[in-house]
Amino acid sequence: MTSNPLLDFSDLPLFDRIQPEHVAPAIDAVLKQAEAALEQVTAPDFPSEWMAIARVLDVATERLGRAWGAVGHLNAVADTPALRAAYNEAMPRVTAFWTRLGADERLYAKYKGIDVATLNAEQRKAHANAMRNFVLGGAELQGAARERYAEIQERQAELSQKFSEHALDSTDAFAHYAELSELDGVPPDVVAAARAAAEAEGKAGYKLTLKMPCYLPVMQFARSSALRERLYRAYVTRASEFGDPSFDNTPLILEILKLRQEEAQLLGYRNFGELSVVPKMAESPEQVIGFLRDLAAKAKPYGQRDVVQLRDFASRELGIADPQPWDWSYIGEKLKEARYAFSEQEVKPYFPAPKVLDGLFKIVQNLFEVQIRRDEAPVWHPSVVFYRIERQTPEGVQKVGQFYLDPSARAAKRGGAWMDDVRARWLRPDDQRLQTPVAHLVCNFAEGVDGKPPLLTHDDVITLFHEFGHGLHHMLTQVNEHDVSGISGVEWDAVELPSQFMENFCWEWDVLQNMTAHVDTGAPLPRALYDKMIAAKNFQSGMQTLRQIEFALFDMLLHTQLDASAAQPGAVMALLNEVRTEVAVLPSPEFSRTPMTFTHIFSGGYAAGYYSYKWAEVLSADAYAAFEETVDAQGLPSVETGRRYREAILEAGGSRSAMESFKAFRGREPSIDALLRHQGMSEPLAEEALA
Ligand code: ZN
Repeated sequence: MTSNPLLDFSDLPLFDRIQPEHVAPAIDAVLKQAEAALEQVTAPDFPSEWMAIARVLDVATERLGRAWGAVGHLNAVADTPALRAAYNEAMPRVTAFWTRLGADERLYAKYKGIDVATLNAEQRKAHANAMRNFVLGGAELQGAARERYAEIQERQAELSQKFSEHALDSTDAFAHYAELSELDGVPPDVVAAARAAAEAEGKAGYKLTLKMPCYLPVMQFARSSALRERLYRAYVTRASEFGDPSFDNTPLILEILKLRQEEAQLLGYRNFGELSVVPKMAESPEQVIGFLRDLAAKAKPYGQRDVVQLRDFASRELGIADPQPWDWSYIGEKLKEARYAFSEQEVKPYFPAPKVLDGLFKIVQNLFEVQIRRDEAPVWHPSVVFYRIERQTPEGVQKVGQFYLDPSARAAKRGGAWMDDVRARWLRPDDQRLQTPVAHLVCNFAEGVDGKPPLLTHDDVITLFHEFGHGLHHMLTQVNEHDVSGISGVEWDAVELPSQFMENFCWEWDVLQNMTAHVDTGAPLPRALYDKMIAAKNFQSGMQTLRQIEFALFDMLLHTQLDASAAQPGAVMALLNEVRTEVAVLPSPEFSRTPMTFTHIFSGGYAAGYYSYKWAEVLSADAYAAFEETVDAQGLPSVETGRRYREAILEAGGSRSAMESFKAFRGREPSIDALLRHQGMSEPLAEEALA
């Protein structure tokens, strides 16, 4: 029919045949079809019926999503200059279409006209989500309010872009050309990189910057307190009134907060915090604030103990009687070394990639009653492996889903790890076929050397389990409606439940016994090494929890309690100082201006949503506790609990609220007890720890 592989929707993407020159014509074609579909379903005489709209519009937009998804995927894992150019050329047109679709008044009217009594439960949820998104996108606004809403959106986009540019530029603006004598204690690779950076500029000495790969090790390891102070002061005052005025984010923060408050009020909410939680699992800002304060109160004694231990170690072992803000990381690293002397290099040989993968698959197969086998598909690189997930049913073997695993780091592949969907489970409205879900699992593990298999760090193993958890959420779903199947439509503050849940297995002794084999001897992980890993796992967890709560509480209070329309420049720092007084266990210096580079909430998607990290951790820890409570006589997880978890959480996907799913599994609302226990914050504290 067509020779363009991007336009072949018969089954899996033809990753081995897609070339940069296919992108523009294919995207043009699917965009044209999607636009025509939008016109067709919004015509005055087109019926306000769910299936009628789905047959035309959803079928067309799904094709756009799949074709564009394949291009985006290749851009991420097999980048070439030609592909990048084709991707960047097409992207604005794709983005513009989705924006137009989301605010189309005619389409909104068609959805409004649908008689929900004619819909099944999944369709009703998808319909409710769509209606909510139209409203939050400003579709109900009329006249001047509508114009103002559009202006606010545009200005916010500019400001958030400027905010992140300032954060970046002020980071880049700093350099300190150090003498070698100042770098005592800094790891040799960091020293070498600093020398190379200075040399590249034709300068003498060692160029130190505020970029993480330089800043972090200097703060952790440099013996010179003066050097750490110099970098610390520069770091915590970036993009503030203390630096280059052209990078100062202070006025931007006030304007962003003002616009967010106005946007929320236009849509009928008192403040941006209320607006932010509408599509989330949390019910109100007050609930979030209560949750954070409760967790802070529970974590505080442990955080205080951590600080006492740091102070004690600093004065006894390091001769630092009165630690300053730039000393804490250094003291922490030294204490960690003294307590848990083991290195990642000792752990790695026990985790050859094939053994780990085999262990992961066994857990999934046993717990969720499926089989994972190798399968065939066109791929973009020879190291990519394709699998299928099957289930034995009374009617025979049934295909549940499929996934690509692209495990290794290589040139032209983006760093990090992620799960992405290739296509969703969907009872297709055009031909009534049941489409099975397909996922990408992408990691960046090191390749094996000397003919040996790749060896994973324990962090790599956790990453693999995490992404596989997202993958299971996408692939084990039993929902037939596209927009609420798998991870689609799952609340943003609950989407990390299945991924963080899987991480827990990486700390289980029985699991590790079956998942480790020393690359030379075949021996499983020794108990002594395991005990050290477990002890180090919760090092300073009280302090770290309080640090996260400080950010999250500040974020939510800023978007609910500060009246941005009347706020003066000092108001933001004043609020942060109140939060610090309430929850922090380490004093912050008066000159610290960390909000000026808080890009998560001022230029990312986390505004009044930073709490989500902790929120989802509570859910995943509590869900995992159900497995701990039901282990069998051999200490293995119960298949019955696995089945209930699969049905309540994984199979239900976005077809109902995350709270309903959680309660269906646990029989009650989530509790923070399991998280506190997993992070070592439920054991009683020794008297002297609080002295
Ligand atoms: Zn994740």
